[in-house]
Amino acid sequence: MLRVAIDGPGGTGKSTIAKAIADRFGLEYIDTGAMYRSMGLKALRTGISPADEEAVAEMLKDTTLDFRDNHMYLDDEDVSGLIRTNEISMAASDISKLPCVRAKADELSKYLAATRDVVMEGRDITTVVIPDAEVKIFMTAAAEIRAERRYKQLLDAGKEADYDQILDEIQKRDYQDSHRSLNPLRQAEDAEYLDTSDLSQEEVIEAVSSIITARTGREPSK
Ligand code: C5P
Repeated sequence: MLRVAIDGPGGTGKSTIAKAIADRFGLEYIDTGAMYRSMGLKALRTGISPADEEAVAEMLKDTTLDFRDNHMYLDDEDVSGLIRTNEISMAASDISKLPCVRAKADELSKYLAATRDVVMEGRDITTVVIPDAEVKIFMTAAAEIRAERRYKQLLDAGKEADYDQILDEIQKRDYQDSHRSLNPLRQAEDAEYLDTSDLSQEEVIEAVSSIITARTGREPSK
């Protein structure tokens, strides 16, 4: 069994790296942030405030989540393309404080990690979802660097972007994700610390591959 668990703040490139690692080592890629984003999306769509725990709990009673083949399904609808907006990032961070929301994402994440070899990324994978993962990594980068990368990504995609606003949102979400009372983002004691501030994407993929091989003896299949 090989389970690679990666945690870290938003905008560190965890998902790009995790997808490349999944491909190299023949693992299934699981994006747990997409689960929180989907629940945030449903609350926004139905006009439920993330602060109204009772209403959110009621909403979740008849909500199904699934993540397969890099796609996120909310009530059998593929919402992968809809959940990548700033509005949904904040809605996900707001709603992720609620115990009923965390329980819903944990249930699916734990099931997936127990039934296949995975590379799973999020905020509490190394600490709560798979604390006994074979490989655990805490990936981070300076907030200014993450904002800069995001800014460039948006410009490259021909979209409008405001660097100061992006940095502000990153800092706000960092604070919220690491200060909530339930399962905040933190580095697990036995997780490898990887600061990607001065590394290229290729260098990060190499670094993670080396950690996997050092910890498990498994070599990339590609
Ligand atoms: O990783 P991503 O930016 O897509 O996550 C969106 C939000 O979902 C995070 O800001 C965080 O509040 C929440 N999240 C979480 N636990 C996870 C993954 C994501 O609380 N394991």
